[in-house]
Amino acid sequence: MDYINKIPMLVMLVIALCSFKADTTGPWIQTSRENITLFTRPIRYSTSNSPDSTAISQIILEQNRVIDSINIILNVKFDKKVEIFLFNQNEATTKLGTENGGFCDSRKNRIYFAFGTSLDQEKPVEKTFFVGMHEMAHIIAHNEIGWAKTRLMREGLANAIDGTYGKEAISKWMNGYIKNNLIVSPKELLADTDLPDRVFYPQSGYFTKWLIMKYGIEKIKEIYISNSREFVLHFEKITGDSFESMNEKYLHYCTTFN
Ligand SMILES: [Zn+2]
Repeated sequence: MDYINKIPMLVMLVIALCSFKADTTGPWIQTSRENITLFTRPIRYSTSNSPDSTAISQIILEQNRVIDSINIILNVKFDKKVEIFLFNQNEATTKLGTENGGFCDSRKNRIYFAFGTSLDQEKPVEKTFFVGMHEMAHIIAHNEIGWAKTRLMREGLANAIDGTYGKEAISKWMNGYIKNNLIVSPKELLADTDLPDRVFYPQSGYFTKWLIMKYGIEKIKEIYISNSREFVLHFEKITGDSFESMNEKYLHYCTTFN
């Protein structure tokens, strides 16, 4: 597991667990455009920068475009309002539970995020994202497809869409895993054992992206809400392929990575 040990711990902190309850006590500046309502801290609220009016405009534009992109990828027409609470960097640890990144409440269509997180996306809508695609992918998937009962589908789809884990592109992570023979099979990903996030997130994203490429988004949407007990059966019924053969095809695909 040499390769894994070389990954800086910093990147592990980006995706926080959804169990933390954000403290949304004001004051906030509220700005709305199209589907996004953004809550930001007033200027000089804390020693960390608050977003200025230029940043506010960019973030709102970015997230409206993120909705458009995800609608295209998932072939859906999500058009609800999403609230984004953007905490300043120096209050994020206590009020958000993470210094970088954030999390969402997909039942309330809310994202909680730290301002200043710079995510380099593999396929950016804009070069640098403020909030990125991962949390919005969770919100749209939950609203338009349903609640994914497996971690593989829930996180896999969001990771496939956002294309990064931590601050690195998933392809970079996979490059390391493939070179070092550390590929986790779809079978193991579905079993959701004790794989650490730094293994599970990039690999579930890479696998789900391949799954969409191979079988098409509509079939993956049908499988998305299956629980782990029914997953194999549903997969075989919907795709007409055996789970075993898909498992082998994916592992073979990984060997063609370059
Ligand atoms: Zn997630």
